Parts: sequence; structure tokens; C-alpha cells
Amino acid sequence: MGGAHSVYVMVAVNLYAVGQSMFSSRSLNLTAVLNSAHLKLSGVPIEGAGVVWEFFAGSAVWTKALAKRGYAYLTPIEITDCRHFDLLNYLFVEKCILILRAKLVDAAHFGTPCSSLSIAITPPRRNAEYQLGVPDLVGVAAAKVRDGNALSAVAAQLIGVCDECGVAVTDENPATSWHWKLPVIIALSARALAFEALLCYCAYGTLWRKQTRIRGNRIWVERLAAKSPGCLSHQPLRGSTFHEGRWKPWTAVASSYPSRLVSCWSKLIADNVDVSGEKKQQCEQLLHACRNDVQSTESGLTPLPGANLNLVGLGNDRLLTVGRVSRYSHIDDHLT
Ligand SMILES: [Zn+2]
Repeated sequence: MGGAHSVYVMVAVNLYAVGQSMFSSRSLNLTAVLNSAHLKLSGVPIEGAGVVWEFFAGSAVWTKALAKRGYAYLTPIEITDCRHFDLLNYLFVEKCILILRAKLVDAAHFGTPCSSLSIAITPPRRNAEYQLGVPDLVGVAAAKVRDGNALSAVAAQLIGVCDECGVAVTDENPATSWHWKLPVIIALSARALAFEALLCYCAYGTLWRKQTRIRGNRIWVERLAAKSPGCLSHQPLRGSTFHEGRWKPWTAVASSYPSRLVSCWSKLIADNVDVSGEKKQQCEQLLHACRNDVQSTESGLTPLPGANLNLVGLGNDRLLTVGRVSRYSHIDDHLT
């Protein structure tokens, strides 16, 4: 092990220990954790609404649908927005866990990346015997499978924490994805991912079919189930299409959840998720504390791109090509 690496590990461990003790001392220090994780609360929710948080958010259409209903949100986690939002970095994951335990978040969603978990990959990288990857994988294929396994494991860990903390949580992956067969995910099926909806995107108004599965810890998840209404044909998600002035792969154009789906989903959350009567006050206090904290440490912070939320309707949603998503993202090659 190199000297620089050992120093890095020692510094990292110390920072983590300091962060934990600061956090456990007072809820005020939620601000320290949020700031050090480069995360922000968007504002104060309207009366009766709460706070939501989306992981592997892509263009964050789920978050936007809830924001329209008056929910506040924590910065959606999408690595292509900000290099700090790396769920393969255990320090960042620890911060996410601390934040979830602060009882700020009422509903969370995971669009866990599925690119290495598709059954359509040829030659197959996983099979019924080797869900975690066939033994002879090398190079890029091996790395992708390893990252896919790690991301599903991180998602499973955070979903478990959400459930323990009373957060209404959901996880989405293609209906046939190996994700659902991984031991870490199966382990959650008794509780945190007990309820399921199978749905076709076309039932929510898209030209493509794209069958997906949503699981979660609340029974209303089942109400998202919807079969194809018997469309005469479906747009295949292969090749590219001219979209908003540029050529883009169909998989990227079709990567966001249909607007009708997130509209139904956000309504189910608004109608069914109980929010503490002190939520508004909690958010106000937190925003106030974060502002003061940022002012006092402003000189030491580097500017960050932040989230790509486009809540005021300026510009387009970001659409990435598969090639630009270097490590992982919600935006990947879902296959129909
Ligand atoms: Zn259909």
C-alpha cells in the first residue's frame, strides 16, 4: 500500500469519525453533513407535504412531479450532475445514511442502474447459477458487472435504512432485470420491498413499451401496475432518433419515467404518505442553519454544478448518450 493512499485512508477515517460525533451531538449538525455532502434542501414544503429524495435520479422527473405537488426535496443523487454524488464511495453513502436517520425525508426512490443487469446482454454476463456474474468475465465486462453488483448492494443498504426510518421507499428496475434476483434485493422482499407493480410505459402514454417493475414498502405501490393497453405497435428502442435538435439514442430519449406515471406516483405519495406536523418548521430551521453554515465556510468551498433540475421551464432536460455516462447512471441501456 502506498504512503499517499494510507494517509488518504487515515484522513478519510478521521473525517468520518468527526462527522459522526458531530452529527450525533445535535440535529443542528445535519447541516454539516448536508454541506459536506454538497447536498441542499430545496425549500419549505407546502402544508401537509413533506420532503423527498431520489437516488440514481437521471433527469429527476420523479422529484419534479413531487415538487409540483408542493414537496421539498434534497438534491437528487445523480453522478453525472456532480462528481461528489458517488454512491460507490462509502463516505458519501455514510453521509446519506446519516441524513436518512435524521427523519427529514418522507419518501425516497431508487432508479437503480440496470445496464449490467439486463438479460438482453450478449454474451450473457449473468445466469441463474451466477447472478453476480459468470466466472470467466474479464476487462470491461467484469468491471461493469462488479459496479452493477456494488450499486445494487448500496441501493439495498439505503433502501433498508429508509424502511427502518419510516421513509416510504421504492426501487425501480426493468421487469426482467437480474437486479431482482440478487440476494441483497431478495433479502428485502419481506419488508422494505414487499409490494410490487409491473407496468408497461405505453400504458402511461409512451410510444415504447418498456416493461418495468417497481417495488416498495407501501401497499399503494401496487396501484402503479398497468399492462399495455393493446397498442398496435411499439417503438423499438434501438438506434438513434432526432430529438430536440440533436441525434440521440432511443434508450436515452426513453430513459425518463413517463410524465403520466410520475404524476400518478406523486399523487399516491401525496395522498398516502403521512408527514409530521412539524415538517415545515424542521425545514425552515434547517434552511436557516444551512445558510449560516455556508456563509461561515464560503471561502473554502469550490463551486459545484449542482442538480440539473429545471423547475422553472428554462432549457431542456439533460439527455446523455450511453457513452458519456462513464461509470453509472440511471440513464443507461434499458432494453425492451
Ligand atoms: Zn403498449
